[in-house]
Amino acid sequence: MLKVDRIQVGIVLDHIRAGNGLRIFEELGLAGREYPVALLMNVPSTKMGRKDMIKVSGALDLDLTKLALLDAGITVNYIEGGQVVRKVKPGLPERVVGLIRCKNPRCITSTESYSPSIFILVDREEKRYKCFYCGEYVRV
Ligand SMILES: [Zn+2]
Repeated sequence: MLKVDRIQVGIVLDHIRAGNGLRIFEELGLAGREYPVALLMNVPSTKMGRKDMIKVSGALDLDLTKLALLDAGITVNYIEGGQVVRKVKPGLPERVVGLIRCKNPRCITSTESYSPSIFILVDREEKRYKCFYCGEYVRV
């Protein structure tokens, strides 16, 4: 089992689907941070078989909605004094504004750039959303 220095203050993103860690690492812009960050891939997990993890020391503003869209199964652990003080499982939000792009070229959000997209969750299992304006379905 791989050992990584314990974080005193920071965030550990756990239960990332194996193979998805690098994408999340890049989407969150973690390579540009001045504090230590670690991306762990293919960590053995009793629940998932294998998983990815990301450890970030220092404060970090996380967009939990964006994170949940990138990986709905993720767990966010907030670390203080070397201990987990809070665990959050964001899950897919019921309503997403501005983060998903509608694929329908005739949709108002495609033609009018000032209209932010609004998507409503219609199927949590299938990770399916519906465009509020035109009814187009997308899977995240
Ligand atoms: Zn639409």
